[in-house]
Amino acid sequence: MASGRVDLDGNPIRPITICMIGAGGFIGSHLCEKLMAETPHKVLAVDVYNDKIKHLLEPSSLPWADRIQFHRLNIKNDSRLEGLIRMADLTINLAAICTPADYNTRPLDTIYSNFIDALPVVKYCSENGKRLIHFSTCEVYGKTIGCFLPKDSPLRQDPAYYVLKEDDSPCIFGSIEKQRWSYACAKQLIERLIYAEGAENGLEFTIVRPFNWIGPRMDFIPGIDGPSEGVPRVLACFSNNLLRRESLKLVDGGQSQRTFVYIKDAIEAVLLMIENPARANGQIFNVGNPNNEVTVRQLAEMMTQVYSKVSGEPPLDMPTVDVSSKEFYGEGYDDSDKRIPDMTIINRQLGWNPKTSLWDLLESTLTYQHRTYAEAIKKATSKPVAS
Ligand code: NAD
Ligand code: UDP
Repeated sequence: MASGRVDLDGNPIRPITICMIGAGGFIGSHLCEKLMAETPHKVLAVDVYNDKIKHLLEPSSLPWADRIQFHRLNIKNDSRLEGLIRMADLTINLAAICTPADYNTRPLDTIYSNFIDALPVVKYCSENGKRLIHFSTCEVYGKTIGCFLPKDSPLRQDPAYYVLKEDDSPCIFGSIEKQRWSYACAKQLIERLIYAEGAENGLEFTIVRPFNWIGPRMDFIPGIDGPSEGVPRVLACFSNNLLRRESLKLVDGGQSQRTFVYIKDAIEAVLLMIENPARANGQIFNVGNPNNEVTVRQLAEMMTQVYSKVSGEPPLDMPTVDVSSKEFYGEGYDDSDKRIPDMTIINRQLGWNPKTSLWDLLESTLTYQHRTYAEAIKKATSKPVAS
């Protein structure tokens, strides 16, 4: 497996130890899987939960058992964090509150999680001369310049007004009472701090801006493996509706546009960053699939078709229903209008391109959702309600 691996410049890859914070989440679980199956690297997996990586931790007879260790700790208040960062060659920080339903309803938790709690991680890396890969977000771009043009302006079709470039595009957020932007703003400030640590103190860093990575194990299904009143990100919301044969809820008409990338494609990009420090250090990378753009309405329609194919159930008579953002998310919600990543920098530095079409990634993801949850939902919905 590991022997003979070389980096993009033909140099042999030396096995390293990675302190992965937030390893028990959606992205962390896929990254751990990839590192265990295809590389010789060791992982110190830090999180408050480990359900999504249990299959990598047990039984102890797994071939990689001596290369992954789980450390259950909350980085807000645990003195073991610095020791773990010092033991590793590289720290990857994925820990965050990152579901839009929280940004306007729990803005303090959101800001603390995405800025204050990330500060010691940056500090320990900088002080101990350790490399850091920090997960930011495409949301730091906020809204596109084009969305402020008149609806009928031909300039709206000009990529100069909407394509998001790491070293060029401005960050455009709404007013302070639109608390949706608490997340983006906190992520932007931690990016600026990391960049400044690089410039002033020589921190070796890479910043990742994910553009809607989706796939198996993303978030939770309300009432099954998460709170019944919880609102996860759109993939899990729509999966939940499809599993329960409810209409998919389109917020404010579902006109916002997103580009979706398959988690397995995106993880390839992260592995290239890990194993090619000379090409990744000091860089900010967009990681997304510009070819997979849809409106949220189109996403709902496509998921309805794909789910019908993989489950064998007929599509609903009323597949979608409109809902206002105030009703769905509460006061202070706002939205990014369009998110097309510019790919120049990641192509140039790492030669990475996504491969999977939206249809194909939805087919494998919804097959997983159906296999994992359909029975549990059937059981939960057939239980008599306690009086
Ligand atoms: P996730 O919620 O599935 O994973 C985050 C993990 O961090 C969770 O397992 C959580 O328990 C852990 N965590 C949070 N606070 C912690 C703390 N104080 N101590 C220890 N562990 C803690 O989210 P994800 O989708 O895997 O996202 C990972 C990162 O990527 C986040 O920083 C997020 O902002 C960023 N991101 C992801 C996407 C995407 O498309 N999935 C898009 C933009 C940005
Ligand atoms: N959305 C929706 N219905 C839902 C959940 C989300 O219409 O049940 C919309 C949401 O308003 C946003 C888009 O889908 O325009 C993507 O939402 P997601 O939760 O994935 O987060 P975002 O891409 O905004 O970070």
